[in-house]
Amino acid sequence: MAFDPTAFTPAEVELLCQECGGRCCFCIPYTHSMIDIEAFVERGDVTAFVDSKAEHAKLLHEFQFIAENWQQISILDAKEQAPYDIPGWSTEDGASHYFSCSQFDPETLKCSAYEKRPANCRGFPFFGKQDPSDTSDYLECLLVKEAKRRLRNQRRRQRRDLEAKLRRAGGVKRAR
Ligand code: SF4
Ligand code: SF4
Repeated sequence: MAFDPTAFTPAEVELLCQECGGRCCFCIPYTHSMIDIEAFVERGDVTAFVDSKAEHAKLLHEFQFIAENWQQISILDAKEQAPYDIPGWSTEDGASHYFSCSQFDPETLKCSAYEKRPANCRGFPFFGKQDPSDTSDYLECLLVKEAKRRLRNQRRRQRRDLEAKLRRAGGVKRAR
């Protein structure tokens, strides 16, 4: 089976997310503002962003969930709440808005709507990619850090194996 540094067991995810403190759930960057999300939900139309019926249903569910459970926070509140630096805060280039989520339990640091959480939450942080190299770690997500560490170690192992093979190949005398 191919090596996948982003594959974590549920126990590993729980351990790392507890250690992290759930930072991706209490200061959530998102591409749309609440005003826009509510408007899309009201019209029931998100065709501008998707290519298929299945994607439409998924994104509409995500927008409905967000409209019911997320609260948009100001950039100043986001800066205060986020225990990390977001380089070039993306509202500066108009690319992102920030939210908190009423389903995040600050006592247990867990999601109270785990089974119902939208695709954006389910996919975070790798969104199905098995190579974490390009995954942004501006949240200082511990899953991203660990996946990158595993990938580095794997590459080191591969390099060591190759060097050993080259040494063996160089040590074998040619028959003629
Ligand atoms: S930022 Fe990463 S490590 Fe932290 S809670 Fe979210 S998924 Fe878990
Ligand atoms: S729904 Fe759950 S996973 Fe998504 S932001 Fe809220 S608490 Fe976090």
